[in-house]
Amino acid sequence: MNVVDFIRRELTEDDWMADGACRGLSYLFFPTAAERPQTRERREEAAREVCEGCSVRVTCRDFARQQREYGFWGGETEDERHAAGYRLIAPIGVRARQTS
Ligand code: SF4
Repeated sequence: MNVVDFIRRELTEDDWMADGACRGLSYLFFPTAAERPQTRERREEAAREVCEGCSVRVTCRDFARQQREYGFWGGETEDERHAAGYRLIAPIGVRARQTS
C-alpha cells in the first residue's frame, strides 16, 4: 500500500471491512493480469454469491462507489458502479472506451 492509499484508508471509517464475508477470498474480487472476459464473468458471479450473504453489503457498495474503487465490491462490478454514475478515476479497457 502506498502512502496516498494509506492516508485515504486512515481517513475513512472502514471497521466494517472486518465483517466482510470476502475475507481471504481476494482472488474472487480482483482480476489477475490479462484476465479473459469469460474468466472475469465466472469470477464475478462467484464474488456476487459471496456478497449476497454478506452483512455489510450496502456499506461496502457505498464505500466502493464513493472511493471509486477497482474490483468487485458490495455486489457490484466496476461496470455496474460506472453505470450507476460512479466512474473510475482512471478507467481502463472497456470503461476507458465508454468514457472517451
Ligand atoms: S459486500 Fe462483498 S465485497 Fe463487500 S465486504 Fe461483503 S463480501 Fe466483501
